[in-house]
Amino acid sequence: MAGGACAARWGSDMAGSQRAGDALIRLRGLTRSYAAGEQQVTVLHGIDLDIRAGEMVAIVGTSGSGKSTLMNLIGCLDRPSTGSYHYAGQDVSAMDERARARLRRAHFGFIFQRYQLLADLDATGNVEVPAVYAGRAPSARRARAAELLARLGLAERAHHRPGELSGGQQQRVSVARALMNGGEVILADEPTGALDSRSGAELMALLHELNGQGHTIIIVTHDPEVAAQAGRIVEIRDGRILSDSGAPGGDAGDPGKRDRDQAPRPAAPAAEIAAATGPAAAPAPVPRDEGAFAGIGRWREAAAMAARALNAHRLRSFLTMLGIIIGIASVVSVVALGQGSQERVLENIASIGTNTITIRAGSGFGDRRSSAIRTLTAADAEALSREAFSASVSPEISSSQTAARGSVSTSVSMRGVGPAYFDVGAYRVTGGTTFGTAAVTRREQVAVLDASSVETFFPDGSDPVGQTVKIGKVPLRIIGTVEATGASFGPDTPRIFTPWTTAALRVTGASTLSSIAVRVADDTAMSDAEAQIDALILARHGTRDFFLQNSDTIRETITSTAATLTWLVSAIAVISLFVGGIGVMNIMLVSVTERTKEIGVRVAVGARRADIVAQFLTEAVMVCLLGGALGIALAFGIGQLVEGLQSDIRMSYSAMATGVAFLSSTLIGITFGYLPARRAARLDPVVALTRE
Ligand code: ADP
Ligand code: MG
Repeated sequence: MAGGACAARWGSDMAGSQRAGDALIRLRGLTRSYAAGEQQVTVLHGIDLDIRAGEMVAIVGTSGSGKSTLMNLIGCLDRPSTGSYHYAGQDVSAMDERARARLRRAHFGFIFQRYQLLADLDATGNVEVPAVYAGRAPSARRARAAELLARLGLAERAHHRPGELSGGQQQRVSVARALMNGGEVILADEPTGALDSRSGAELMALLHELNGQGHTIIIVTHDPEVAAQAGRIVEIRDGRILSDSGAPGGDAGDPGKRDRDQAPRPAAPAAEIAAATGPAAAPAPVPRDEGAFAGIGRWREAAAMAARALNAHRLRSFLTMLGIIIGIASVVSVVALGQGSQERVLENIASIGTNTITIRAGSGFGDRRSSAIRTLTAADAEALSREAFSASVSPEISSSQTAARGSVSTSVSMRGVGPAYFDVGAYRVTGGTTFGTAAVTRREQVAVLDASSVETFFPDGSDPVGQTVKIGKVPLRIIGTVEATGASFGPDTPRIFTPWTTAALRVTGASTLSSIAVRVADDTAMSDAEAQIDALILARHGTRDFFLQNSDTIRETITSTAATLTWLVSAIAVISLFVGGIGVMNIMLVSVTERTKEIGVRVAVGARRADIVAQFLTEAVMVCLLGGALGIALAFGIGQLVEGLQSDIRMSYSAMATGVAFLSSTLIGITFGYLPARRAARLDPVVALTRE
């Protein structure tokens, strides 16, 4: 035990204003009843009790007589059913929750039978807790906690957790905690109940020492030996005061008697300590108002607490955030994938050229009947090429065919096209030449191969030009090879180009076209050309069995398709985030139940409801934000992986999507953390502390 000489600085800001003889604590007609089913069970029946500043009072009685109930009322943890309670002249029953929390924080220090230390915090951390709620700066409260622990002989144990301390040591830590904010009145409920006799005696000596310095000590016990050490004994039976050795008018009310009663103290007598240090050696003043703990400070403290709680249960925290991680990762990945493929397609379209209008059969992309419509003909192309607005006309016949060369036989996409097809810049000639007008007119059996066909039919790398490839039974002489200029998308089917006349006559055997591409003359506006083409084809066909396309309409189609898809998948991802949020709420609710005691302790040392809400809400938000961050990291990881594996898929991450992901995880945290936080704040501290 620490020496008495230095003990005075534990002292609180004693209520110096108390006139001698005035009761610090004045209870009149105090009752407390509980609703037990239909009935009311009255535990305290009209308690009248005055306790003066500086007294040491033992409350004794059999188990169930109402001692703890009385203690909790005095400590403002509980409210009386009827009757009045004045503390230092103030009417406590009239105070709101905040005011009572402030009273607890600034004036009372609780010592419990089972110590009630927070298992995740070391000794210093536990001692600090009351100062956190009092808004004292971290450095100041650290210093005071260290000092208190040192005075209690626990300097070596300052960084041990409760699990690593003996019962006696834990109880001394809880005494230090009670003194943190001053501890003007120390309420000890069966403080020696769980201690061996030696530790019990040491604790009693410590309490005497504190009493000697002016602390008012109220101790509940059923041990007559412990009770005998107090200056005054109040005996309770069945919720009534049976006897009070210090009641006014009683012999014990005589101060001389009190002094005589206090004489057989086992440790440093009060007078001695007081003489050695003087009452002026006051502790650091306790902030009476909320100070730094209101506003920003509260959230900073709550963030620190939340970080500690999450760190203490890492696996569970991780599992809690798993739903959020997966949800956020899928949102970000899907948006990136949609964005990436859209960019890619749009790049391809850009390479097609902007002054080309394509006429296709059917009512639009995806029209299933379009392949059955056989009205787009060579004659249409001829008619179009006679118009002034067309710089060139390129009919196209696309058809899936089997091509063979030697032993290689495979499915290819045959494209019957005009010479202008190669002018628009989608392909670059890599060998030989492409066909001209003459080849088209003469229906020459010539072919141009794209890179994929070259690879398929000439795997040995030999020069294809001059060789022959067969489409069906028709042999075609290869006159050139080309390579796509834009990045290709979709499966890379080999393509073989041949004059459209050749394709129509010799391969498909019909003169219907898949499409006609018209390159618009530079002096004609695109919209004019479009209107004229529309009118012309409509007149020729009699019905609208075709549609026009330019690069703008293709772009629009793709953009809107991609947007629809992104919305769809995002909706699924949002649902998964919602499920993740419910998971967080679920675990947080369990955690509140599990940490009932912690909440009780925090309230007992002066936390307000708002502080408890802040703590649990911050924890939920932190889980979600951390989950969000990990989810984003996972999404980027997936992107890296995909990029490494297959260059065909592009993922484009936007800062917007990332920001939205963060924002939504915060919102999820607030939304789904609110219910558990509110439940935590509504816990009755008395019930919370007694729950085993
Ligand atoms: P002691 O501390 O003297 O052993 P308590 O003050 O804890 O006794 O309890 C006194 C009586 O009040 C007991 O009979 C107990 O069952 C009852 N009691 C205490 N708390 C509650 C409660 N929250 N609801 C109903 N009864 C309670
Ligand atoms: Mg009790």
